Amino acid sequence: MAKLTSELLRPVDPAHALDEAALLRYAAANVPGFPGPAPALALTQFGHGQSNPTYCIQASAPGGGIRRYVLRKKPPGVILQSAHAVEREYQVLKALGSHTDVPVPKVYCLCTDANVIGTPFYIMEYMEGIIYPDSMLPGVAPSKRRAIYFSTAKTLAAIHRVDVNAIGLQKYGRRDNYCKRQVERWEKQYLASTGEGKPARYQRMLDLARWLKENVPEEDSSAGAGTGLVHGDFRADNLVFHPTEDRVIGVIDWELSTLGNQMCDVAYSCLPYIIDATLSERTSYGGFQHTGIPDGIPQLEEYLSVYCSFSARPWPAANWKFYVAFSLFRGASIYAGVYHRWTMGNASGGERAKFAGRIANTMVDCACDFINREHVLQKQPSMGFQVSAAPWQEFGREQEGSISTKDQGKFVPSEKVMHLRKKLMKFIEDHIYPMESEFYKLAQSTSRWTIHPEEETLKALAKKEGLWNLFIPLDSAARARKLLFEDGSLVSPGSSNDLLLGAGLTNLEYGYLCEIMGRSVWAPQIFNCAAPDTGNMEVLLRYGTKEQQKQWLVPLLEGKIRSGFAMTEPQVASSDATNIECSISRQGDFYVINGRKWWTSGAMDPRCKILILMGKTDFSAPKHKQQSMILVDINTPGVQIKRPLLVFGFDDAPHGHAEIVFENVRVPVTNILLGEGRGFEIAQVREARSWKTTSLHEANRGSRTRNGSDGREGLK
Ligand SMILES: Cc1cc2nc3c(=O)[nH]c(=O)nc-3n(C[C@H](O)[C@H](O)[C@H](O)COP(=O)(O)OP(=O)(O)OC[C@H]3O[C@@H](n4cnc5c(N)ncnc54)[C@H](O)[C@@H]3O)c2cc1C
Repeated sequence: MAKLTSELLRPVDPAHALDEAALLRYAAANVPGFPGPAPALALTQFGHGQSNPTYCIQASAPGGGIRRYVLRKKPPGVILQSAHAVEREYQVLKALGSHTDVPVPKVYCLCTDANVIGTPFYIMEYMEGIIYPDSMLPGVAPSKRRAIYFSTAKTLAAIHRVDVNAIGLQKYGRRDNYCKRQVERWEKQYLASTGEGKPARYQRMLDLARWLKENVPEEDSSAGAGTGLVHGDFRADNLVFHPTEDRVIGVIDWELSTLGNQMCDVAYSCLPYIIDATLSERTSYGGFQHTGIPDGIPQLEEYLSVYCSFSARPWPAANWKFYVAFSLFRGASIYAGVYHRWTMGNASGGERAKFAGRIANTMVDCACDFINREHVLQKQPSMGFQVSAAPWQEFGREQEGSISTKDQGKFVPSEKVMHLRKKLMKFIEDHIYPMESEFYKLAQSTSRWTIHPEEETLKALAKKEGLWNLFIPLDSAARARKLLFEDGSLVSPGSSNDLLLGAGLTNLEYGYLCEIMGRSVWAPQIFNCAAPDTGNMEVLLRYGTKEQQKQWLVPLLEGKIRSGFAMTEPQVASSDATNIECSISRQGDFYVINGRKWWTSGAMDPRCKILILMGKTDFSAPKHKQQSMILVDINTPGVQIKRPLLVFGFDDAPHGHAEIVFENVRVPVTNILLGEGRGFEIAQVREARSWKTTSLHEANRGSRTRNGSDGREGLK
């Protein structure tokens, strides 16, 4: 049953009694706004939780209001070294509460002086909300159950997204070899809690430890992706939910938190699917996989999909067996410790601790059975899982009304995307990285504005391997396919040319591939996925007439020519395109263009043949209807490339960013895109998509540079 926080309070266990007068003195001096003077103190204790004793302090000043706080301290008596570190709990709560949106109670003060109430402690905000001690959520409506599980997955993702460097937790633990160290640590703790004169030691637990040591996933040895802040005990009853809104308002019990392999948190949070680990007098494993999923609770895959979506982590099938077995092993070790403390009379969770010894062994048995199972998790999530209210959902909506996205890529990379990612990585490693220094040499030489012949060879190879035009979204491809295929003369379905229209990816799916291409400055263009061509092709795909597509889009799709986008002007603030001044005036069957543009990327490239120019066709029209976009053949008389501009001191040869003067440039009226006055409208689509691509490329390029492996850095 769901419980209000206040319903978990009990009279203080005599074994955990505190010196209330000393506590009052300390709190009055150290908790900002503590009621005073001489408030009445009522102390109660939280009945659940087996580790650090946790109390509710209710302070009421005479004639004033009542305020509640939570105190958490180390248990009394002899405790295992490094366990029960309330100082660390305080540190992590303070950092998260001050700098992130991870929901945690606010902390007020830390007392490390054991003389005050017998052990170190800290005082934090009391959160009135709901705790669900039973993961089956008995008595909760199915729709609420679903929301509760999804909120749990999102909260875990929020913890895992935290940038520990940015919030001062970079030294909170070592990131690498987390599982390896954890297996050793929990084995040691198990040995310390069992054996002669203590509860009996279970041989299967030692066998399990050996298996885990032999099967630590390779990824564990690195401090790379997938490592960061780990809660360490992320389960339902360490979450406080909003009283009415089915969302987590506080993650509590950070005792085991550290930095490390975050997949351990994920598997641990999934244990209700595997085993019922609540302390009770039962003998079977329980777990939804054995007993059936209660109505409304999402399938394991669905829960994991939400987590993966919100944390942007890949589907965890590869090492799922290890992570679940490890979680059970660690749970068993913790319970063995709880049981040992109970036998010594100082477990903080009361009488229920007497079941802990048996549950520890049940967890070990369950882990051994799990390891021996052939299938533990699908290789990929089933299609069709919808992630509601995901921040990424906007991308999905773009397709509505044109092509159904049902059964297309969701927020966990599909098998198709993972396959393309792998192929891209291999291609870049095999062909692009080895050529980078050659490309740079040319780009630094006096022949800097020419193209290295190997670039075109690699483009042909990439095309052959199907790593081509991956940026094209499903819906844009559909329109062009219709226009270009209709007469069968240009790109025929089923032929090798079909790949000119991309791999049928959604924007989100493409994002996963952008991330890979961004690892080399040269990669995007080799896969024909470089700006500004991507944005320009997108404009032609969506708005080009059949003739415009034939003349310019097809050679762009084929990678035979390149293009530029001329919008920004030196004399006006161009971040607001309503300011631009370049004129496009109609004279009979021609438009005449006059203006000056700069930062036209790609216009220095000898392969650049076409520009999309943004100018004004009507200076008197409403503000956003004055602009038009028009195709300009770069070789039209009057187009004068003035100079390449520098970006942070680089001219980015042979691509370049050009300043261009357009002087009485005459282009046919058929070159207008979508119609006069539609330029601003087109720009909304072009810029959104183009910058999405560019920023993903740049973001990842930055990360490679930081790692010291970017070619440009090497040549500086
Ligand atoms: C590497 C690179 C490649 C580029 N490639 C292209 C390209 O291919 N084609 C192209 O056309 N352009 C290109 N640009 C130019 C780019 O689009 C512009 O630099 C950008 O749009 C900003 O315009 P601006 O430089 O005129 O700055 P401004 O518009 O002068 O803005 C300067 C700053 O003032 C702020 N600002 C401006 N007006 C206001 C206001 N009213 N209120 C509050 N803040 C304001 C802006 O947000 C910005 O922070 C490129 C730029 C770079 C760096």
